[in-house]
Amino acid sequence: MSAIPDPQFDELFREIILDHYRKPRNRGHLADATAHAEGMNPVCGDAIELDLRLDGEAINDIAFAGEGCSISQASASLMTERLKGRPVDEARQVTGKFRAMMMDGAEPDPDLGDLEALQGVAKFPARVKCALLVWNVLQEALQQPKPATPGGPQ
Ligand code: ZN
Repeated sequence: MSAIPDPQFDELFREIILDHYRKPRNRGHLADATAHAEGMNPVCGDAIELDLRLDGEAINDIAFAGEGCSISQASASLMTERLKGRPVDEARQVTGKFRAMMMDGAEPDPDLGDLEALQGVAKFPARVKCALLVWNVLQEALQQPKPATPGGPQ
């Protein structure tokens, strides 16, 4: 940390971001995952793996693994906390609102909850990729075909 106060730097590393980086929520793998995707941000060296357990149209459980900078890992942790147990439709809406905040400079939508803490990152284009990585991985995981239901129609 620089000894010179830097308000921009403070904004980039808000306390809630550091908290999620140090104590990530929903970190690990799901033994009974129904969807999995992974992605990398080579510019920064971030890597994210995402496991989902989808039950009908809901994200029953979600977990992430990987490594990288505090922004990428905190974004993943905040995302899992926001979307765990929520409908897939809601996940898609929150994804759109998060992208709007990060890429279009939109004011954070109330639906984003604690994800609002990442708003300051939008001013740093190189770090926006870090924050968006897990959301790109989520989108990929949600696009995967659903596994066949045992006993269901062939
Ligand atoms: Zn990064």
